[in-house]
Amino acid sequence: MELYEKINLHSHIYRCHHAEGSVEDYVQEALKHRVEVLGISDHTPFPEKRDEGIRMELEEFPDYVKEIEDAQKKYPQIKLLKGLECDYTPEFMGFYSELKEKYQLDYLIGSVHFFYENGKMVDVFEEPLNHKRMRLYTDQMLGNLDTDIFDFIAHPDLFVMRLETWDSYAEDCVREMCKLAEKKKRVLEINVNGLHKLGSPYPDRRFWKIASEYQIGTIINSDAHRVENLCAEKEYGYQIQKKYCLRQSAQDIIEKIL
Ligand SMILES: [Zn+2]
Ligand SMILES: [Zn+2]
Repeated sequence: MELYEKINLHSHIYRCHHAEGSVEDYVQEALKHRVEVLGISDHTPFPEKRDEGIRMELEEFPDYVKEIEDAQKKYPQIKLLKGLECDYTPEFMGFYSELKEKYQLDYLIGSVHFFYENGKMVDVFEEPLNHKRMRLYTDQMLGNLDTDIFDFIAHPDLFVMRLETWDSYAEDCVREMCKLAEKKKRVLEINVNGLHKLGSPYPDRRFWKIASEYQIGTIINSDAHRVENLCAEKEYGYQIQKKYCLRQSAQDIIEKIL
């Protein structure tokens, strides 16, 4: 078994309202595939009403943590980690650190699923990205990369979802992101969840080819929103990692957080 098959640090359960399966369902799937380290990392609640409906409420957070802790006791044969996928938002950084501290979470993932344009939220999954918005996405990602509280950075190539044209402008933005990732020693995630979406938009080889010009660590995760996707398609991420000679850093992350 390869390392990428033994470790998965990005998975979602029913509590975010757009995923299926309980922690226990995921653990059983992981055991079936001989996964050794499984991280549950549902979408973070926010400290205020914002972007509701696709995340748990703050009041539900203790139950989320308890569900993982109960499974840790029930399944000692697997290393089950308490994680959280956090939407990079400058004013919430203190809140995320407090959650981690208070609930003794093992790790935090930093993500950019949206950014703001003239005060209005732009969803990277939904809205077309022209140059101006690519710039805003990049700035949001640079802030995400610059933050010290995250253990790795989720799907940096998510912007391809609705990118209007892949051109030298987009490539320059990718270089800016990779340069900062290298400088700050951030691990970037090769996220294979995009392969379950229409047109399999990510992981995007053009992004990872550019990333290979930098000294950047990578981790392959499934970002499963359904139990049956937990171990699916990770081989594709591994092909990218091998083709572009990207460093495998999953083990480094585990050592750092445990
Ligand atoms: Zn999700
Ligand atoms: Zn995710």
